Order: sequence, then C-alpha cells, then structure tokens
Amino acid sequence: MKHKVAVLGATGAVGQRFIQLLENHPDFEVHELVASSRSAGKPYSEAAKWKLATALPEGIKQKIVKSTDDALESKILFSGLDSDIAGTAEEAYRAKGHIVISNSKNHRMDEDVPLVVPEINPEHLDMVIAQKKKYGGAIVTNPNCSTIGLVLGIAPVFNLGIDMMIVSTMQAISGAGYPGIPSFDVLDNVIPHIGGEEDKIEDEPNKIFGKFDGKGIVPAPTRISAMVHRVPAIDGHLEAVSIKFKKSVTRDEIVSLMKNYEGEPQKLNCPSAPKPAIQYFEAVDRPQTRLDRDLGKGMTVSVGNLRPCNIFDWKFNLLVHNTVRGAAGGTILIAELMLRKGLI
Ligand code: NAP
Repeated sequence: MKHKVAVLGATGAVGQRFIQLLENHPDFEVHELVASSRSAGKPYSEAAKWKLATALPEGIKQKIVKSTDDALESKILFSGLDSDIAGTAEEAYRAKGHIVISNSKNHRMDEDVPLVVPEINPEHLDMVIAQKKKYGGAIVTNPNCSTIGLVLGIAPVFNLGIDMMIVSTMQAISGAGYPGIPSFDVLDNVIPHIGGEEDKIEDEPNKIFGKFDGKGIVPAPTRISAMVHRVPAIDGHLEAVSIKFKKSVTRDEIVSLMKNYEGEPQKLNCPSAPKPAIQYFEAVDRPQTRLDRDLGKGMTVSVGNLRPCNIFDWKFNLLVHNTVRGAAGGTILIAELMLRKGLI
C-alpha cells in the first residue's frame, strides 16, 4: 500500500516538481496539497500556474488546496514552502507528529535536524529518532540546490582529504521560484548576486560531511569560498570548482573514484536513485546546462573537464538539476531511503 503524503508549497516551482515526480510513484501518493491563503479553498488547477512540460496529473486538478492552518491526514509532508513561512509552519507540523522533509533553508543548520544527501550521509537520518521522542514528529532537510551539486560532485574524492575549495556557480532562474526574476533583469544578462546563497554553499557542506557521534554532528573542516551568478537558463546550475587536496592526488585516482561512485540509495534500489549517481565526462566541453541537466531523470550530477589548476591542484565543472536533484527529487529520495531504513 502506498503512503499518503502532502505537498506543502504545492503551487510553487518546487511544489510542482513534487507533483510531477510523485505521479505513479511506487511508494507515495499525493493526498493533500497546501499553499498560502491566496490559493487555499481553490481547486489546484485554478490555484497553480502549471509550468512543467508534462501534463498536470488528472487526480491533482480538482484537489482543493489547503492552508497551513488546516489539519492534515498525511504522515509524510514534502515541503517546498516559502522560507518566510517554512520555519514556524514546519515546527508546528512536527509538533503534531508529522515527518516533514523540507527544501527550505530555515531548519537546515538546527543542531538536532539532519541535512541529508542520501548517497553521502544516510547515517545522519538517525537524528530523527531523538526528534520523534522530543517533539512527536521530525524535520529532515534537503540542502541548498547548489550545495547538493557541489557535495555530490566532490563526494567521491572527499576522503582523499580536501584542504580547500573555490566554487563559482551559474544558476538557472527556476532557482528563484515562480514568477521569479523579471525577464527585463535576467535576459541578455548575468547577475553576480543571489541573496544568502554564498553563505549556504560555504557552510552546508561541512555539516553534510560531518561525523554523527550519536548525539550531534561534528562538522568537517574544509574551507570553501563561493561566488554565485544568476544566468538566463530555465533549469540547471553549472558550477566551476577548484580543489586543493591535503596530499598529492593523481588524475587517474579522481577519474576512477568519480566513475565508480555509489551510495546506500543505489545499493538499496531506491526508486529515484540514479545509476550512475555521477556521470563523468572526458569531453572538455561537458557538462552543459541544456544538454545534461536531465541525465538520470534529473537526479544524476554530471562532472567533466577535469584539468590541473595553476593555483590549487585540480579543477572541473559540474551540473545539477536544481528543482529535481537540487530540490523535489532529492527530497523524495530522502523519503525513499527513510522508508527502507525503517525511519518512517
Ligand atoms: P515559489 O515558487 O515562490 O513557491 C512558494 C510556495 O510557498 C508556493 O506554493 C506558495 O503558495 C507557498 N507560500 C508562500 N507563502 C505562504 C504562506 N504564507 N503560507 C503557506 N504557503 C505559502 O518558491 P520555490 O522556488 O518553489 O521554493 C520553495 C522553497 O524551496 C523555498 O524555501 C526555496 O528557497 C526552496 N528551494 C528552491 C529551489 C529551487 O530550485 N526553486 C531549490 C532548493 C530549495 P501560493 O502560490 O499560494 O503563494
């Protein structure tokens, strides 16, 4: 039997991806939809401006959108709520015994909340047990979309010992939600600022790569400097990464680790786990945003153009689909893994 789930922020860019990716999902069935008071009380097809290239699922069209004040029947809540409301709303749902798996920034760095990329730190999900005892329910978070690409791209080589990294991102407009940035501002342009984004990319990886000691996370010590840019692509964040290792590392070592990388979701055959988790390109002009963002149904992170760095040791490019692996798809994969680990 499928688990009934609710999508919070169901009308937004991330909420729409949840609805698309959960259509015919083997584990989960969308039962309830939640958005702001602007949408509550309306059928979903009227409340949402559907912006995806697949049809709005029939079973969703007539569902009446609920507000965050309404009681929910679903145990599992996938959240794509605006960060202005996510903090308090997600805490309230946790106190009512729900398991909230969230894309919003609000609780990512809370001491008792795991920040999870399923391939990298599945053991952090055990923090849910203590939360359930304390609050009745639990909050689990998905990292920032650019962070997810970065940590998956470097995960294969992380244990070789990374001293420091510089990352420059070229981020798609869907990352700003809908309707997002005015076309007048973003077309024929690159904007070298996204509020709060650099701090997230610099701070979140050390929690994700941190050690869970049974009580909390001891963060990893890697130094990261991030520069972010908004570019006129619809989906897909491209990132240019330079890494300084603590010891000498060969190109062959890096390539072999990249090509053979997998994690618990692949081993457990989670339905959304991409195989391969990382697509390694030898070509110097890949990955490219438009050509490669949909690899592995948007769940594969692609890496390429690996070359020596004159200042650090190695540099390469990576690409992540921001609303799939970087948001809704990554969150669904967390839930699939929690189910298989007996945490839901
Ligand atoms: P969005 O398109 O602006 O959607 C926001 C959603 O939140 C809408 O469903 C909106 O409902 C709802 N909402 C706003 N105010 C509300 C309120 N007071 N009460 C209840 N619902 C409310 O934003 P998004 O891009 O989907 O992002 C959603 C969250 O995910 C954000 O926290 C964002 O930072 C994070 N995130 C986004 C991405 C991405 O690539 N877009 C990636 C990772 C994480 P109405 O339609 O009724 O206003």
